[in-house]
Amino acid sequence: MPGPFFADANSGYENAQYVICGVPFDGTSCFRRGSNLAPREMRANSYNFEAYSSFYDIDLSEVNIHDAGDLEVAQDIDSTLDLISVHANKFVTDGKIPVMLGGEHSLTLPFARACKNKYDDLGFVVLDAHMDMRQEYEGEINSHACISRHIYEEVTQKYASIGIRSGAREEYEYVREKRIKVFSADDVFSMGIEKVIGEIREDISGPVYLSIDMDAVDPAYAPALGTPEPYGLTPRDVRTVISCLAPKIVGFDLVEIAPAYDSGGTALLGARFVRDFIAASARARS
Ligand code: MN
Ligand code: MN
Repeated sequence: MPGPFFADANSGYENAQYVICGVPFDGTSCFRRGSNLAPREMRANSYNFEAYSSFYDIDLSEVNIHDAGDLEVAQDIDSTLDLISVHANKFVTDGKIPVMLGGEHSLTLPFARACKNKYDDLGFVVLDAHMDMRQEYEGEINSHACISRHIYEEVTQKYASIGIRSGAREEYEYVREKRIKVFSADDVFSMGIEKVIGEIREDISGPVYLSIDMDAVDPAYAPALGTPEPYGLTPRDVRTVISCLAPKIVGFDLVEIAPAYDSGGTALLGARFVRDFIAASARARS
């Protein structure tokens, strides 16, 4: 029976290794709004799946998962980032692995920062269709279109992105100039995802934060997005990234689903990725 919390999140906070939280905020989204409804929809869809994962051979009902519910948000992005950073810092300081359900991509920043405060050599891997390397977008520096720029300039230069197929010419020039590791969806198609991950691991071998912007996935699999881009990754590509990085992942988020634009399949896939991350990570740590 679907509850208000994520399926198999049966642990109290104290004993939890994984703390799920929703952040229902979509204030800077530009094309289609509605990612504020995604945490609720992912939770509802999480009840579709068996507790036992045959792929990872682990039972999620035996993993210490806590769902802290939705965090309080404000009307504007700056106040919202302030509000949620308090929780992000607490989760990480308390030794938890935060699992943030967005909401829009700008919400990643306080969670990545919290992890960087704890792990000085933190790497950051993002799956996204978009560069998100703008300095500002429509006058807003904390727009979801700027998140990767903030991460690279303010959090860690051990940064890599996978699935990219959209950006302004200036963003492409910026990453070329800085020699930032950007793997397009076409790179994944031609090289294979394992080779891409291998190249990323040359630079990022320590603790890593994994951020999944759902629009990295092809809109054929995930149509309910704020800013859909064709020619994307497959769900299997994403699962392979999750599997390979899981042993090192210290923070995770899944953002940018806009549930109103399909009949539930995208939130279902999002819930699957979240469950697979927890299963892969718990498996690696067991
Ligand atoms: Mn993004
Ligand atoms: Mn995107």
